[in-house]
Amino acid sequence: MKLVVMKFGGSSVANAEKIRHVAGRVIEKKKQGFQVVVVVSAPGDMTDDLIEMAAKVTRNPAPREMDMLLATGEQASIALLCMSLHAKGQAAISLTGPQAGIFADTDHTRARITQIQPKKVLAELAKRRIVVVAGFQGLNPNSDIATLGRGGSDLTAIALAAALKADLCEIYTDVEGVYTTDPRVVPDARKLEEISYDEMLELAGAGAQVMQGRSVEVAKKYGVVFAVRSTFSQAPGTRVHKEVRQMEDVVVSGIALDRKQAKISIVDIPDRPGVAARIFSALGKAGINVDMIIQSEASDKKNDISFTLSEGDVKKALSALRPVKKALEAKDLVANNNVGKIAVVGVGMRSHPGVASKMFQTLADAKINIQMISTSEIKISCVISRDHVDQAVRELHKAFGLDKK
Ligand code: ADP
Ligand code: ASP
Ligand code: MG
Repeated sequence: MKLVVMKFGGSSVANAEKIRHVAGRVIEKKKQGFQVVVVVSAPGDMTDDLIEMAAKVTRNPAPREMDMLLATGEQASIALLCMSLHAKGQAAISLTGPQAGIFADTDHTRARITQIQPKKVLAELAKRRIVVVAGFQGLNPNSDIATLGRGGSDLTAIALAAALKADLCEIYTDVEGVYTTDPRVVPDARKLEEISYDEMLELAGAGAQVMQGRSVEVAKKYGVVFAVRSTFSQAPGTRVHKEVRQMEDVVVSGIALDRKQAKISIVDIPDRPGVAARIFSALGKAGINVDMIIQSEASDKKNDISFTLSEGDVKKALSALRPVKKALEAKDLVANNNVGKIAVVGVGMRSHPGVASKMFQTLADAKINIQMISTSEIKISCVISRDHVDQAVRELHKAFGLDKK
């Protein structure tokens, strides 16, 4: 019998009506002859609400307790979905991440999956039950619950599909697939029929929320072909798979945006060896991921170092850097939250020159100033002022002809 893993995101299980609808989609699949494993996220904005609630109780929640709290969202969803399946006459059982045999490391709130022992999942499938697993959580070596980073239910689904050698893996969400850019920003954005793992990875890393970046890494590593599709329509969605030759014909596949970026600058640092090492090791120790880095040309034996990071990490980064600034005798340490990032992505960039110049010219024509630039083989990103992000994406979407095709 064929096995499918179906993952439904928060907006797909946001209320009772939607949960009943999801139950219907799951039953459809069962009736097509599949063994069905379902992964669900917390309903609607529940994870955000829980984070807010914790912030009202304390400024410094213990990471272990944070995970205990956040894991409850997904647990609400699995129980409610199973109740709905039962009400529709289907045999189904809910399992937490630990019950499903998902093991994680001790890095609370952004743990990695270390292994999956899906014994109970397989036993329940053998009893002809639909198995509904809580996304975003696993059991760590201290027997504590750990969550897998924001958007982590995607990771649960992909990793389970790999462990169970699923015949099909489908990520159901509130849009019909992966689009040329966020359809909330550009209404003309087009749904892509297919996209390579590397492009999806770059788009996710640059802020396209539709798939969690780490889940795409795992899909690539284990060769899990998956589809992103809509909970609310029968449209076929976007297939994400290994790169094939003709994908290179498309120069730019998509544009990502991230408004929640910030820039920190350390100003007038004496120019000597070891400065960058000192700054970035302090940030590394504080668990902060840095994205782009710029070091200015030294003048008067002093230079500036600026880098971008997630807005949410600014406070932590400033506390980590204050003692470093003092020790290095730098003049200033400043944070700027009014920045955002845009990135154009496409495997065709490897063989087609001129993408960077077209991107910069388009931004120049729109009078948008570029503050930082970074590139990879298949991506060009720019940091710009946050107020210009949406306009920049619209202009670039047009300039690269993504609205046509
Ligand atoms: P879920 O709750 O199902 O996990 P998310 O909110 O995490 O859904 O992701 C879906 C959202 O991602 C869409 O509503 C869309 O606004 C946003 N998004 C951003 N970039 C893209 C893109 N390139 N293609 C499709 N959706 C995108
Ligand atoms: N509920 C978690 C979040 O909001 C995990 C997920 O939805 O994938 O990040
Ligand atoms: Mg998501």
